[in-house]
Amino acid sequence: MVINMIASKLQQIFADYSEVLYGYTDISYSPFAKEYQSALVFAVPYEPQLAFDDYTEQGFEDSIRNARRELEEILRKLEGALTEEAIKYDIPPVAQRNEEELEAVFSFKYVAVNAGLGWIGRNDVLVTERYGPRVRLSAVLIDAPFVYGSKMTESRCPEGCTKCVDICPHKALTGRAWDIHSLRSELIDYHLCNRKRSDYIERHGRKNACGLCMVVCPYGMEGLSAPQKAAEEEAE
Ligand code: SF4
Ligand code: SF4
Repeated sequence: MVINMIASKLQQIFADYSEVLYGYTDISYSPFAKEYQSALVFAVPYEPQLAFDDYTEQGFEDSIRNARRELEEILRKLEGALTEEAIKYDIPPVAQRNEEELEAVFSFKYVAVNAGLGWIGRNDVLVTERYGPRVRLSAVLIDAPFVYGSKMTESRCPEGCTKCVDICPHKALTGRAWDIHSLRSELIDYHLCNRKRSDYIERHGRKNACGLCMVVCPYGMEGLSAPQKAAEEEAE
């Protein structure tokens, strides 16, 4: 069957990138469902995986760039396989529609939650068990059905953890825990975060990468999940 063949072809591509997380979800919630049945979403870990103690803004920017490079390489291979099998697909743009709404045409975060790759942390970004929030996301809309992941509907952030909220120099995070019904505006003042990062453009020619609320997250550090880490610290 053609569908199994394409699923296995895509799986073969990801076999060469064992560090990358990926999954599929139906997109019936999205306006794109008129044209595509599924989305493939994948998360490329930033390289290196910075902890708070190693953090510099330029280092964080570099780790994002490295992930972006690998992500583009994977996208090219996925496109090649889908074209070869004559399967209709589209790669939604990562860029936000404009600086007012600050929303992408197709939310990679939301599709990743639907595919079960992670949940949205108090820092308003996707948090994965393996890498915490230190991942770059991409997605491909595909007009074919796949085996879908289990949607995450609630935060797995430890109840008392507010590390990301406390570290934000502009107090842009509200501290509220996410669930599937949460609105972005309930978690973050995204206009404030964007404005502060944009102040950097004049001097440096790009927005500030500001990864403070990500590198501080205990998830993903040294291969330990946050609950494991907390238990180990308690035992010391
Ligand atoms: S990216 Fe920086 S400014 Fe924005 S919420 Fe995180 S710590 Fe605050
Ligand atoms: S620092 Fe704590 S609250 Fe923030 S995203 Fe990570 S686990 Fe969640």
